[in-house]
Amino acid sequence: MTSDLPGRLDHFIAGAWSPSADGATFAVADPVGNRVYAQVAAGGPADVDRAARAAHCAFTDGPWPAMAARQRARVLNRIADGIARRGARIAELETFDTGLPVTQAHGQAERAAENFRFFADMIVTAHEDAFRTGTSQLGYVIRKPAGPAGLITPWNTPFMLETWKLAPSLAAGCPVILKPAEWSPLSASLLPEIMTEAGVPDGVFNMVHGIGEVAGAALVTHPLVPRISFTGETSTGQAIMAAAAPGLKGLSMELGGKSPCVVFADADLDAATDSALFGVFSLNGERCTAGSRILAERSVYDALVSRLADRAERIRTGPPSDPATEVGALIHPDHYHRVLSYVQSGLDEGARLVAGGRRPAHLPSGNYLAPTVFADVRPEMRIFREEIFGPVVCVTPFEDEADAIRLANDTRYGLAAYIWTRDLRRGHRVAAAVDAGMLWLNSHNVRDLRTPFGGVKASGLGREGGQHSLDFYTDSRIVHVALEDARVPRFGTEGT
Ligand code: NAD
Repeated sequence: MTSDLPGRLDHFIAGAWSPSADGATFAVADPVGNRVYAQVAAGGPADVDRAARAAHCAFTDGPWPAMAARQRARVLNRIADGIARRGARIAELETFDTGLPVTQAHGQAERAAENFRFFADMIVTAHEDAFRTGTSQLGYVIRKPAGPAGLITPWNTPFMLETWKLAPSLAAGCPVILKPAEWSPLSASLLPEIMTEAGVPDGVFNMVHGIGEVAGAALVTHPLVPRISFTGETSTGQAIMAAAAPGLKGLSMELGGKSPCVVFADADLDAATDSALFGVFSLNGERCTAGSRILAERSVYDALVSRLADRAERIRTGPPSDPATEVGALIHPDHYHRVLSYVQSGLDEGARLVAGGRRPAHLPSGNYLAPTVFADVRPEMRIFREEIFGPVVCVTPFEDEADAIRLANDTRYGLAAYIWTRDLRRGHRVAAAVDAGMLWLNSHNVRDLRTPFGGVKASGLGREGGQHSLDFYTDSRIVHVALEDARVPRFGTEGT
């Protein structure tokens, strides 16, 4: 049982906790008991305005944007230390609030600290470009933080995803306004203390809780916030892009996915099975890069389906706080029912249920779904086409390489893809032909923080990760300097 839960979560603006200007709150519940455990300040335009002004003031008058990179990096490393020290508590809160299995929440907390260490290293080694044009001209780049950044995050692995945006934006010198997801605000309540303790100046880190369509929307249109980094559903991303257009804001969009895991007959089937299962059932399947469509070459299709079904049946679904649990509880009853409606849709459309599909018998309450495998899924079925965002996977046979590529690309999304084959030439061919932002060949989802993260098609716009993140949170300006007498066409000299 989680101890010492705060009964109330407030905003953090200009270095101080504060309720909403109008006193509004919303209730938040845990996914196991579905009981309200806290009231959360429901931010409105007035709260967002106060946070944006605090961030703007920290940007124009505060030390943060102009601080030497080494000094800022020290603060970022202290933030990482503060996260590492609280790793167990972060995991405990995250598990309680989101239903994520606690061992996986531990891993996410470690990754959160690593995000800060990584970007601390990046800024001390960052350099600006210079360009020589023959002997006549020199151009050099001045890279400046872009200004206050609005960071809007989803409820899956919330703490890690918040730090994935906080670390590069703060590293780049931008003050921030974080808007955590309304279903998972708990672990973010540790951030103000971590930031303050690490020496982040007041006004540099601001957090406004609230409902997306209210607090998030106010942030997206606020004139003092030139950058919005968003992670969430594709439809929300579309609404944000439309709302941000009049303000011509810089946008980074990390959106939904329906990623294929393509298994050729010559693949290492043991490794492919492990990866396919982990890829879709880790993090409760509430994972943007989940390999939720397994495409298997016809000659190994039946064998793979029975392996997947057998292993899925044996995955330990249970209380998220139990270290033995592999799949926990889904975040919210609304989401749970949405995922269940996809199971029903799979059955209605004639897919063959080979594992799960129901609440496990030993878990009579809470948002639990046994890991679910559908075989014989056809591309026109909803479960093949739509992002389910839960522990549900489709398996579909393919005939040859061309068919595999066609099926892999038969989706509006293009976030990730996983390819399993021992034929490396084919592996590279397929990797080049599948429309996805991130591909793993004979490998599961391991990330190198230097690499571009993001999707194509309806999965997103722009890239974060490494230099891409720093590019997003900074403006590059070029200064051109003449090194010789400038030869300028002399307008207006005729006839004198
Ligand atoms: P969501 O789009 O419902 O909400 C995400 C955030 O946006 C929340 O903080 C919400 O309050 C806010 N929001 C909602 N409406 C808004 C509006 N009109 N203006 C501004 N903000 C608004 O997403 P979710 O259900 O929290 O998260 C699940 C989705 O996130 C899935 O589609 C998943 O694939 C995606 N996701 C993508 C990535 C990635 O990197 N590509 C990573 C994780 C999750």
